[in-house]
Amino acid sequence: MAAEDDRKHGHDDKGHGHDHQHGHEHSELSDIALRVRALETILTEKGYVEPAALDLLVEAYETKIGPKNGARLVARAWIDPDFKAALLDDATKAANALGHVSPVGSHLIAVENTPKTHNLIVCTLCSCYPWEVLGLPPVWYKSAPYRSRAVIDPKGVLGDFGVTLPPETEIRIWDSTAETRFIVLPMRPPGTENWSEERLAEIVTRDCMIGTGLPQPKAGR
Ligand code: FE
Repeated sequence: MAAEDDRKHGHDDKGHGHDHQHGHEHSELSDIALRVRALETILTEKGYVEPAALDLLVEAYETKIGPKNGARLVARAWIDPDFKAALLDDATKAANALGHVSPVGSHLIAVENTPKTHNLIVCTLCSCYPWEVLGLPPVWYKSAPYRSRAVIDPKGVLGDFGVTLPPETEIRIWDSTAETRFIVLPMRPPGTENWSEERLAEIVTRDCMIGTGLPQPKAGR
């Protein structure tokens, strides 16, 4: 099933290799995970790839890249109106200008939350995700209930994540694809006016940039 979805959706290998190599995130090992694992074993045995190199790659996405790159983008946009304009104009270019560990290869679009509009990111077909700026996708992002309910009942989904919006706020859904990925630019919370860029970046969680969370000034992470 997963393999079929991936084919239909035209995925590049770059963004979707990891969870398949390391199926522990899934409740069950999918066909594709088993196939990738078998392939990894063969390639390793034949000496084509170094398991250590694969591990380094995975570790980089887990720890070094993580959501920190995205948080830096958001914090910079909050304090620098020119950068914010550049980010909303062309997020790929703006993100790469900051010099990330892994340059953004796909088309990245930043969508801004306002009092009128709240943005929510999903990949209805599978698990397309802006790896370069958010690191590894959370398990729930790839789950069928999130993928379907985000579209049918976005308010309910946000409620499950503990996010309550004013009734007048519209929720806009952005469906990621292999070619186009999205990052949410959340609203800067009140009470953070004198904060440094670094301090601001600490409250920009991964969920804030998917749209399933809001920055909390007190609960910095
Ligand atoms: Fe996808």
